[in-house]
Amino acid sequence: MTGKVVLVATPIGNLGDLSPRAVEVLAAADVIACEDTRHTRKLLTAAGISPHRLVALHEHNEREQAERLVARAAAGESIAVVSDAGTPAISDPGERLVDVAVREGVVVEVVPGPSAAIAALVVSGLPAARFCFEGFLPRKGRDRADRLAAVAAEERTTVLFESPHRVGDTLADLVEVCGPTRRVALARELTKLYEEVWRGPLAEAVDWVDGRAVRGEFVIVVGGAERVAAGEADVDDALALRLAAGVDTKTAVAEVAAELRVPKRQVYAAALRLTR
Ligand code: SAM
Repeated sequence: MTGKVVLVATPIGNLGDLSPRAVEVLAAADVIACEDTRHTRKLLTAAGISPHRLVALHEHNEREQAERLVARAAAGESIAVVSDAGTPAISDPGERLVDVAVREGVVVEVVPGPSAAIAALVVSGLPAARFCFEGFLPRKGRDRADRLAAVAAEERTTVLFESPHRVGDTLADLVEVCGPTRRVALARELTKLYEEVWRGPLAEAVDWVDGRAVRGEFVIVVGGAERVAAGEADVDDALALRLAAGVDTKTAVAEVAAELRVPKRQVYAAALRLTR
């Protein structure tokens, strides 16, 4: 018998979102690796599955547990992996286990299903064709400032997770870097009783959160930055910097065209003008 690791998505609130295939795979698994055994026991019991094969897999033991679980899969067992809610390995344990399984040549499968990131994106009303998932921002320091700056410059829609007591601070920081009018959606308690999606400009989102005792789980979906077309002066400045630094014309033209997203021939014409 061939063993395998199966990542199984579970509901982010509404138990009705546990798919029939998820139930089938969880019921048939030799082991179910989960973040919190009490939490998963409740889910399994509600789904009519015997909860006796649970082992804990969380951020503090994933390193050793991954080796053990993959060894069991290599020996022929079926290892199902769930997190407390949503899709494992998305800001949740599972990534390291998959990494070890892939390295050991063990089959990895997925039972797709709920994920707060995708659910929030699709209800946000913001462009969803291309998006960027940032998970939780670092809490402080240079790392946080760098990631906030990256979100501000990002032209695609960005999806962020945040804990309820930090959502106000994060929105205030986003106003600082993205400006007050950037569009945002706050998706709260998705699939649950008090599900709510607020949409509007960032500055008003701060007021909305400030004005109420917000509870529950939040996803922040930030609209992308407007693309600003580079003008002739921007092209000249970027080129002049490189040429003065001794970069050859061909390389300078290629770099500036890529950086400012302008056609190479336009940058080449500017280079001719500057070097004449
Ligand atoms: N792996 C999970 C997934 O795929 O949905 C995400 C786990 S992450 C530790 C938890 C974060 O997901 C929360 O802080 C919140 O940002 C978001 N989240 C989870 N459930 C949610 C819900 N029902 N409504 C809104 N956001 C939710």
